[in-house]
Amino acid sequence: MKMYAEILVEIQNKHVDKTFTYHIPDNLQKEALVGKRVLVPFGNKKLEGYILKIKNDSDIETKDVLEIINEEPVLNDEMLDLGRFLQAKTLSSLCSCYNVMLPKALKASKKNNIKEKKVAYLKLTGDLDELLEKVSTSSQKDILKLFSNEQEVLKSRANQVSASAVKTLLKNGFLVLEEREVYRYQINEEENTQKKVLNDEQQKAFLEIKNSLGKKETFLLHGVTGSGKTEVYLALIEEVLKINKQALVLVPEISLTPQFVKRFNARFPNQIAVLHSGLSDGEKYDEWRKIIRDEVSICIGARSASFAPFKNLGIIIMDEEHSESYKQENNPRYHALDVLLKRSANHSCPLILGSATPRLYTMARASKKVFKYLALKKRAQNAILPEVNLIDMTEEVKNRHNILSEELECAIIEKINKKEQVMLLLNRRGHSTTITCSNCGYTYRCPNCDITMTYHKSSKNLRCHYCGYTKYIDDFCPKCYEKSLNYYGMGTEKLEEYLENVFPTAKIVRMDADSTTNKGMHEKIIKDFADHKYDILLGTQMISKGLDFPNVTLVGILDADASLNIADYKSNERTFALLAQASGRAGRSNKKGTVLIQTFMPENYVLQCVKNNDYAKFYQYEMNIRKTLKYPPFYYLVLLTFKSKDYESVSKEANKAKEFLNNKISKETIILGPTTANMFLVNGIYHFEILIKYRFDENLIKALKELDNLVLLNKKVTMDIDFNY
Ligand code: ADP
Ligand code: ZN
Repeated sequence: MKMYAEILVEIQNKHVDKTFTYHIPDNLQKEALVGKRVLVPFGNKKLEGYILKIKNDSDIETKDVLEIINEEPVLNDEMLDLGRFLQAKTLSSLCSCYNVMLPKALKASKKNNIKEKKVAYLKLTGDLDELLEKVSTSSQKDILKLFSNEQEVLKSRANQVSASAVKTLLKNGFLVLEEREVYRYQINEEENTQKKVLNDEQQKAFLEIKNSLGKKETFLLHGVTGSGKTEVYLALIEEVLKINKQALVLVPEISLTPQFVKRFNARFPNQIAVLHSGLSDGEKYDEWRKIIRDEVSICIGARSASFAPFKNLGIIIMDEEHSESYKQENNPRYHALDVLLKRSANHSCPLILGSATPRLYTMARASKKVFKYLALKKRAQNAILPEVNLIDMTEEVKNRHNILSEELECAIIEKINKKEQVMLLLNRRGHSTTITCSNCGYTYRCPNCDITMTYHKSSKNLRCHYCGYTKYIDDFCPKCYEKSLNYYGMGTEKLEEYLENVFPTAKIVRMDADSTTNKGMHEKIIKDFADHKYDILLGTQMISKGLDFPNVTLVGILDADASLNIADYKSNERTFALLAQASGRAGRSNKKGTVLIQTFMPENYVLQCVKNNDYAKFYQYEMNIRKTLKYPPFYYLVLLTFKSKDYESVSKEANKAKEFLNNKISKETIILGPTTANMFLVNGIYHFEILIKYRFDENLIKALKELDNLVLLNKKVTMDIDFNY
């Protein structure tokens, strides 16, 4: 019988977002299954693709499938469906959706060459003493003697004795070779954390969720920092494993919180696959297959782990649900929450969103009772929440305390003397943020992005934090040649230098994107700080996340205003979360914590709410603002970004788009722009934006799809659609 397949080819271009029909030759018919990867001829190339459908007839003449790549389908039914779901949610090409779901080793792409890691063992084919008599050379004898205490020996080890003797022994049939797969990744460190008896609040939350096992239900677990949310997750997962189901745990960025994985591993040894960006492609491939092969029941991972191919999920947990890393910032621009909600429905299992500072969106859902609200108001272990004080820098600057206020400086000294530890947050990396010539006024700017470049002292160069452009810096002005360059603004490098001068005996470590470029550096810094090899940890928002150091009793936040002053409707929400989370690092055990926040606007309501640890008040304030200004969660937003190297083209296309949309969509929908984007010029590409605010608009999706096709006709301009802006 004739067999054909509809194949989605690896071209992730919206121009060709459709399947092509291929004939399956007789010898491949048995293996051809939906969800498998294949090699097909395409034009004059050979490309990979996914089989989406098998059928028995075709109207058109077709070419043959060349090869079927995997033994097992890489996309199961749920994933095939999730891909279409993502495509509809994000208006991205289907192929880009499948590719975002899979680890690199399994994506349809000719460029892949990631294989299983095999290790070769040698075994004897008979009795050791008999074989010893049969061999003549001493090196062959030495190799055979390796087997006197062992059944099998690593081939690499035997080769060290004599590779040629191993070869002869194999050829003569005295030894046989056995290749076995090994996994590349191991959770290395054991941590001996005891299972805790849940306190009343934890127990209540636990029972409530436990009663929902087997049902689709979403919970917001709103627990202050250190309230023991993780302990609740662990208890729930124990229940889930008892009924032979699986658990998916999403965290913002595992490499930042190695302690988290260790705690899970201590409780459920050999049960965990880990998926995050810090792993190599080979490691990710292995972790993925541990899940497919049912060798583990828990997956802990970052955003991409939302697609972990479990077949029987019993619970899904999204820890630190407010984290912006759950949103993918390139196509397909999906939010992991949408995927998890869908999977919670697919598997009829509860989804828990945990946070000390829930997103406004999530809290609004909870207050409408769409999500069930559960609260943990106290810190576990009776630790009390830290005292938060705002320091008015206007006064301090007058007294020349520009970097550290007097109060913060004294507090640091006091803590170090008491052998306690300090964390300092400055959310800006590099050394100086602006370099200006005092003679002619010249300022170094990125030629591609038109923003000031940051000076990095360690590498002695200037860097653009948007496009990565770097430039060597002279000690004279490139314009007037005077030696009159001034360094303004402070990043973490300069702060580190400053601290070393002010506290010469303190041991100081810096954690930011620059100090952690090498694999394993995060973990090392975190471990060393936990072991009290350092007194002060300073860093960017990297240090604000989920870390639990019992000996930290002081957290200083140096420039709280920076993130408030960003022009973005989310900046208040982001700032509240950042400061509250960073504050939450202080006083997590029996020692009382203090948080000192330096600001030029101590009356600002966001900062006041942080000071009073008053999430509810912040929520109310911010919801009012959002309502007045028609922002989420009252309105949905879609951001269209038009990009081109050619200014005229992009400006024209954006204006045409607005006109087009105006004629198509409902009257209540608001279209703002086009305007130049915040980052107008990035890497030589001009950016224009249109922001659409809507509540219900039946016509919008259709109109956007039509617009998308129209823009595709213009080869000079591309358009990004972001529904989760
Ligand atoms: P969260 O995830 O809410 O930040 P954790 O689960 O990390 O909080 O708990 C904070 C600290 O309190 C941890 O050191 C944890 O071991 C401890 N802890 C949590 N629950 C309990 C409990 N019921 N009894 C004693 N200690 C607990
Ligand atoms: Zn740049």
